[in-house]
Amino acid sequence: MKQTKTFLHAKKLNQITKDSFENWIFDLDNTLYDINLGLFHKVSERITHYIMDKLCLKKEYAERLRRKMFKKYGLTLRGLMLEKNIDPDSYLDFVHNVAHPELEVDSQLKNFLKKLHGKKFIYTNASKKHAINIMDGMGITDQFDDILDIKGTNYVPKPDPRSYEMMIRKFKIVGEELKRTVFFEDTAKNLKPAKKMGFSTIWIENKFNHQDYELNKKFIDFRCNNIKDFFTSISLDT
Ligand SMILES: [Mg+2]
Repeated sequence: MKQTKTFLHAKKLNQITKDSFENWIFDLDNTLYDINLGLFHKVSERITHYIMDKLCLKKEYAERLRRKMFKKYGLTLRGLMLEKNIDPDSYLDFVHNVAHPELEVDSQLKNFLKKLHGKKFIYTNASKKHAINIMDGMGITDQFDDILDIKGTNYVPKPDPRSYEMMIRKFKIVGEELKRTVFFEDTAKNLKPAKKMGFSTIWIENKFNHQDYELNKKFIDFRCNNIKDFFTSISLDT
């Protein structure tokens, strides 16, 4: 019988190997690529413009509404749908309709991903179109088995536990396999439901997300500066 080491037994990153998990699940934005590239900032500006246009609000009021929706619902879109009757597809098309010429093919990341045994998935609160746009730019699309986007969870975002239930159904992760699954995220609160399901959790830090980390650190197994640091710290070649 195949022996699968679980990450739960790993006390240090270098105890993790390419065989440690059967499922490797990755958030997309600011997890697979570096926040300093500024990609998400462009999307963020378009979210504010969308609200200004659709609801005829000045920038200041649009930003205030946006913060309120995000805080209340965990995702601005969710709040706009429920309270302002916004059409989710027009919102997603608009906010992600932006080119990312600064993205480059990341052969190093691709090689790391290639070495992993098990299945690899993307689980994002953004749209699949956006995910593929980013992954194509990085040259890593073919490394993943499946993508679950916000439409696929009926617009129920992470960290709502209902989103995670839909995620494990979509990726067919059942029973003991939950414990042989790892999830990578820059948003620490999104790791909490994953940890409660039995996943191992990796937090990707940046200069903006430490407050959230402090509130959720008990649900986090390891933290890394970026995704590639994680792969260079584990034992990928053994
Ligand atoms: Mg993210």
